[in-house]
Amino acid sequence: SGRAVAERVASRVLDVPDFPKPGVMFKDLMPLFADGDTFREVIDGIVRHYGRDSFDAVVGIEARGFVVAAAIAYAAGVGVVPVRKAGKLPRVAYSASYALEYGEATLEVHQDAFTAGHRVLVVDDVLATGGTAQATLDLVERAGGTVAGFTVLLELGFLGGRERLAPRAVHALLTV
Ligand code: AMP
Repeated sequence: SGRAVAERVASRVLDVPDFPKPGVMFKDLMPLFADGDTFREVIDGIVRHYGRDSFDAVVGIEARGFVVAAAIAYAAGVGVVPVRKAGKLPRVAYSASYALEYGEATLEVHQDAFTAGHRVLVVDDVLATGGTAQATLDLVERAGGTVAGFTVLLELGFLGGRERLAPRAVHALLTV
């Protein structure tokens, strides 16, 4: 059941205090990725949730989003498109910048990443404040894609990412 999967996921998320800096409780999903049965259930569950015919491409957000995006894309029989940190993509790209607690971050996508009207499922490991997701969804639309959905494995509900992304829907396997 969905609840059993959520419990297995929860037991494979490790809390790492003060990483990458003091005051941050880092959610480490590597034990989940490393467990073959749980990883497969999670990926298949996401594909089932949206329906394999409801999207034409999957976007993964660098870097842990790549792990989830590639698996979903393979399971659904569609392609995967990376959204990368500034300066990593080799060809002409759209950029979106957003504020962090201290400073700014920039994400990019190749300008020719999507065919017009491509329905794009966007995935990441963790939703925190939603800044990363907001920038990514904007990039998908600027590059001609249509957002088919946004999904994460873990949502930190108290940081308000879901409210920030409204009215866009957020699907989270687990919310803490
Ligand atoms: P935000 O833009 O605040 O929603 O942050 C989301 C991005 O930062 C995602 O790519 C996450 O992988 C990462 N992230 C933010 N906070 C955490 C956290 N506490 N644990 C793990 N990853 C996080």
